[in-house]
Amino acid sequence: MLVYFAMNVLISADDIQDRVRSLAKEIERDHTEGVHLVCVLKGAFIFLSDLARHLPGNTTLDFMAVSSYGTSTKSSGQVQVLKDLGSPIEGRDVLIVEDIVDTGLTLTYLQDILRARSPRHLRTACLLSKPSRRKIDVKVEYVGFSIEDKFVVGYGLDYAEQYRNLPHIAVIGD
Ligand code: 5GP
Repeated sequence: MLVYFAMNVLISADDIQDRVRSLAKEIERDHTEGVHLVCVLKGAFIFLSDLARHLPGNTTLDFMAVSSYGTSTKSSGQVQVLKDLGSPIEGRDVLIVEDIVDTGLTLTYLQDILRARSPRHLRTACLLSKPSRRKIDVKVEYVGFSIEDKFVVGYGLDYAEQYRNLPHIAVIGD
């Protein structure tokens, strides 16, 4: 059954594009020998594809899938790897590309398992951050936008697998 919620645009498509372009400049400056992007599926797939197109030729990418929320809007705190990387990251300059950091539990877990694989550098880019929700202090080098404690959808982020295709970020149920 398709359920429609009231939605308000929080971050416009144009503002997202401007910010992604400037994040790419920062990332390029810090990764002079190229960067290996690790996209955290599914939520980061649009962020990854926009970011990658603003980075230079010596950029490679891979995908990982983890479970965090299921279909509800509450974090379970349980993280499970559903799909692992296709190639080793040892000695590489790796950038985790994540949609949103909320409690920080998912990202901390991901950083720990990837760091154990001995990349040369491991950094993280998150499109969105909800600082007021943090349960664990996690390092994120590149943050697109800090937002309030609201459940958001669009630009890759879903509610029950819907709304990922929106070009903007919207607040659901407002
Ligand atoms: P954390 O482990 O930091 O609490 O949660 C991270 C994951 O929860 C994100 O990768 C994302 O999948 C999901 N998440 C957290 N906040 C939101 C939100 O506002 N909207 C959506 N769609 N997912 C969220």
